[in-house]
Amino acid sequence: MPLQLDDHQRALLEHMGLRLDFLPKPAPDAPLTPDVAPAPTRPAAAQPATSPPPTTPTAPALPLGPRPDVSGADWSALQQAVQNCTACGLCQTRQQTVFGVGATPAPDQGAIDWMIVGEAPGEQEDRQGEPFVGPAGQLLDQMLGALGLSRQAAPSEGRGVFIANVLKCRPPGNRNPQPQEVTQCLPFLKRQIELLRPKVLLAMGKFGAQALLAEQWPEVATTPLGKLRGQIYRYGDTPLVVTYHPAYLLRTPADKAKAWDDLCQAHALSQAP
Ligand code: SF4
Repeated sequence: MPLQLDDHQRALLEHMGLRLDFLPKPAPDAPLTPDVAPAPTRPAAAQPATSPPPTTPTAPALPLGPRPDVSGADWSALQQAVQNCTACGLCQTRQQTVFGVGATPAPDQGAIDWMIVGEAPGEQEDRQGEPFVGPAGQLLDQMLGALGLSRQAAPSEGRGVFIANVLKCRPPGNRNPQPQEVTQCLPFLKRQIELLRPKVLLAMGKFGAQALLAEQWPEVATTPLGKLRGQIYRYGDTPLVVTYHPAYLLRTPADKAKAWDDLCQAHALSQAP
């Protein structure tokens, strides 16, 4: 379904710095790859790292608790399990866990439209208990708004979005997530996806992409994000689109048009019958 923008949505895009004559066309007819595609489908210019740079050296790993088993948890039990989690050392430095925000599972209303997966809470997220706040969150909200989506949208409107991170606790100093922290925390994200059953997954930044793709495609760990985007992957039966993290886009506005391209692709997938 072609993306139709009204005046308000066009104004949002202009506010984001996107020239309207530069807007890409969504590609609803693009076939889904049967599995992870090994090669990019467009020329891959050298891209810088997409995630916010670590501001402190990597801290030594702290002792791990048992890996969470939330395989049978409902939404409420899952929230409680995250809130009480001590499965990795980040529980010792967090102010609070950041479960996610947006649509909740509603069996009588089917799948939600999108689930967005970032990497880890930052300082403001740790303080507020919500992912993607501050300037990066505002940019994400503007991009979602241009597509008629919102983290506050009621699922009954059929426009439900849920936003979460791979890690539910903030790494000290906003350093990068460590592999063992991702391993410990991943059961929570997987259960969120199982319960929400999104029509499309959008991984924002390399850690979201790695968390969702590494089991089926280990090479994702060493592939620059600029070469990951522009394709359609699958996480189980769910189409998965990879794009830049909004924090990266704030530092590199020239890549906003590419991110908008990716969001249009996700929009087309979520509209597919
Ligand atoms: Fe538990 Fe995840 Fe927080 Fe580690 S980051 S303590 S695994 S919720």
